[in-house]
Amino acid sequence: MPEYSIGVDLGGTNLRAAAVSRDGKIMEKVSGSTDLDQGRDAVIADMVDSINQIKSACGEGTLAGVGIGVPGFILLEKGVIVGSNNLPEFEGFPVRDEIEKRLKTPIFLENDANAAALGEKWIGAGRDVNDLVLLTLGTGIGGGIISEGRVLHGYVGMAGEIGHITVIPNGNPCGCGNDGCLEKHASATAVTAMAHLMSVGDDDITSEGVYKLAVEGDEKAQTIFRTVGVSLGIALATLMNIFNFPLYLLSGGMLPAWDQFAPPMMEEIEKRSFTFRHAKTRVEKATLGNEAGLFGAAYLPFQGKQ
Ligand SMILES: [Zn+2]
Repeated sequence: MPEYSIGVDLGGTNLRAAAVSRDGKIMEKVSGSTDLDQGRDAVIADMVDSINQIKSACGEGTLAGVGIGVPGFILLEKGVIVGSNNLPEFEGFPVRDEIEKRLKTPIFLENDANAAALGEKWIGAGRDVNDLVLLTLGTGIGGGIISEGRVLHGYVGMAGEIGHITVIPNGNPCGCGNDGCLEKHASATAVTAMAHLMSVGDDDITSEGVYKLAVEGDEKAQTIFRTVGVSLGIALATLMNIFNFPLYLLSGGMLPAWDQFAPPMMEEIEKRSFTFRHAKTRVEKATLGNEAGLFGAAYLPFQGKQ
């Protein structure tokens, strides 16, 4: 059996784990639900069980370690999660050391969006570059920055919170305390909120519903996606001016609306980024979808020290 690592994607509702070989092939996979009502210890026990299950299925292979992607900030040095709305019981708990103690193998914690960016770099749309930014457009907006092939962490591990950069001064208020965050103007949640404000569709309209109306020619629905595109364009132009990376990837549930938001997004980038106009810069769809975080988590032990 070859050397392999185990990636874990710990979400608010799902727990997925996979053994992945050094060349990026999934060898074994388990998925279950995260039953947060049972408490933190039960979630950790489930996680340890899933990992052990995969380990025994992989037999004699050499386990390089386990990478775990979690929705929240990671304080890298301490190995703790802070500020996760999905996992409040893990706040400040030494989760890395606890799992390491039980499994006796190196554990690497990573923010889920950072893990997804790393997965795309390893075997997804970013495999041919060393530097990229990934934005995940879902109910919120997650961000991950890969620089020289590694996650850019900042000094405690909180870098890459691109969803919370300001795109509209004094724009919509955000739970983070800021006003006008990117995720308040370009996420799926922002699309439905704007639809409500503008009386587009029924009360229970989804972002997909708004997209359908936009495709059918509804001008208000098109305006909503124009706002999404302009907001993304402002954020991306700023990132391009800072990093001069060759590749910016978008993923998540909003991706099918690409034809609606991408034209105003590219117009805005063209207008605002001198770097974009003078350097070959690609803005593309990510390719791994939901699997990106799992692959990225699995890649962490192969990379070693975070
Ligand atoms: Zn915010």
